[in-house]
Amino acid sequence: MTNMFDVCIIGCGVIGAAAAFELSKYQASVLVLEKENDVAMGSSRANSAIIHAGYDPLPGTLMARLNVEGNAMAEDLCRDLDVPFKRIGSLVLAFSDAEKATLETLLDRGQRNGVPGLKILSAEEVLQMEPQVSPKVVAALYAPSAGIITPWEYTLAFAETAVLNGVELVRNAKVTAIQKGADGGYRITTTAGEFEARYVINAAGVHSGEIHEMVAPKTFTVKPNRGEYYVMDKAECFRANHVLFQCPNEDGKGVLVTPTMDHNLLVGPNAVGVEDGDRVNNTAEGMAFVRGKAELSVPGINYRNAIRNFAGIRANTDRDEFQISIAAERFIDLAGIKSPGLSSAPAIALEAMKLLSQCGFRPEKKAHPITTRKKVRFRYMNDQERRELILRQPQYGRVICRCETVTEGEILDAIHSPIPPCSVDGVKRRAGSGMGRCQGGFCGPRIVDILCRELHLDPLSVTQDGAGSRLLLKETKQVGDEF
Ligand SMILES: Cc1cc2nc3c(=O)[nH]c(=O)nc-3n(C[C@H](O)[C@H](O)[C@H](O)COP(=O)(O)OP(=O)(O)OC[C@H]3O[C@@H](n4cnc5c(N)ncnc54)[C@H](O)[C@@H]3O)c2cc1C
Repeated sequence: MTNMFDVCIIGCGVIGAAAAFELSKYQASVLVLEKENDVAMGSSRANSAIIHAGYDPLPGTLMARLNVEGNAMAEDLCRDLDVPFKRIGSLVLAFSDAEKATLETLLDRGQRNGVPGLKILSAEEVLQMEPQVSPKVVAALYAPSAGIITPWEYTLAFAETAVLNGVELVRNAKVTAIQKGADGGYRITTTAGEFEARYVINAAGVHSGEIHEMVAPKTFTVKPNRGEYYVMDKAECFRANHVLFQCPNEDGKGVLVTPTMDHNLLVGPNAVGVEDGDRVNNTAEGMAFVRGKAELSVPGINYRNAIRNFAGIRANTDRDEFQISIAAERFIDLAGIKSPGLSSAPAIALEAMKLLSQCGFRPEKKAHPITTRKKVRFRYMNDQERRELILRQPQYGRVICRCETVTEGEILDAIHSPIPPCSVDGVKRRAGSGMGRCQGGFCGPRIVDILCRELHLDPLSVTQDGAGSRLLLKETKQVGDEF
């Protein structure tokens, strides 16, 4: 038996989720198919978390326009959907006369792209704003509109709100084949069954080339490219007040040093072409490269304060452009969305609506779609707010994650959210538990307990982050065993 939808979106990274959110404001039946057990499992959870200003892409490209538009949309969206976002501004640091000339090029590009407030700062001005930057700095390009965000929360916020508006999300549903039906719609075969849709949106990230080729001749090649990072303890956060970039080169935007929304310091990435778009391992060479490059911008970072390493895979292609187009009849590519894809996501979603309309899909707007979301974030409340909250719901008075001050109430909110997590890391992405210095050493077992209690799970079935990551192998003690 198949289910017929108006639109099927393949992939629930930030691009698929933003498109689902936009479509959920209309009278349309929408299906999202995601191969992993959660949303934001591809590059949308492992990136630099910057809402770029937009001086980097070449003028006239889709990347330039959608970056600047997406950046402008971020503030209202993050306020409405309760996503952590701060416009802290960015500096591109120059350490030589040649790099200073690059700043002039970026300034010109940015002005042509419509980036507001750009200016070139002297070394003295830079060091006043950023005392930890290397004294060898000669100038910097300041972009006040650049911001930092929590990228998996951006994705979750879009996806959760879309689900509340009636979008159907099917996880663990890897698309393996797409065929054109007799009625002009598409029959989509997945590991979770067959589905039918009149229109298809390809938002499969690093796998978007494979999805494209299921219905249309090859027009681009995805060239996966890995970037590796250090996440530093909050003790290192004083080292940067803005996003500190280096001058871009043929390998990308260079190694950055930036505060995160949770007051950690992020250092990375490198840029290495890889064969396997799903292999997000760190390498000793990659991490040494990141340390060496970061030392040029911000000397003295104490890597004994590193609390985690991670890597993300860029969906680079053989073109220096997003692959956004009508690829076949009623089939839209939002493909090869490399950086600045996170920044551009809401604008890409509007672009998808335009392309759907060109394909003949013009649904009516819903009268009152849900466009807001609210979360309890105990750690950012004052004492008075905390007291009132605990009086109303005592579970907010029990701290489960001590490093990040995340309460049982917030873990319960996550478990019973519109897209319930099914792993310890799924709870982490929603509630922020396990993000701190001990990386879940203290709260991990308690979260397993709460997951089992709330979802009636067998503790042996709980995973850290999906298939292949079971936490417990067998019971070592039975009730009544002698100690
Ligand atoms: C190292 C790095 C740093 C970056 N830094 C920034 C930054 O600071 N700012 C910025 O704006 N952008 C940045 N980006 C780019 C940004 O992260 C991406 O552009 C964005 O996340 C792309 O989102 P997406 O939804 O297209 O892809 P993804 O997040 O990868 O989502 C694609 C989804 O499709 C699913 N999928 C794949 N194949 C199938 C299938 N067959 N069936 C069903 N589902 C499938 C995947 O599981 C995945 O969930 C960075 C990227 C990387 C890797």
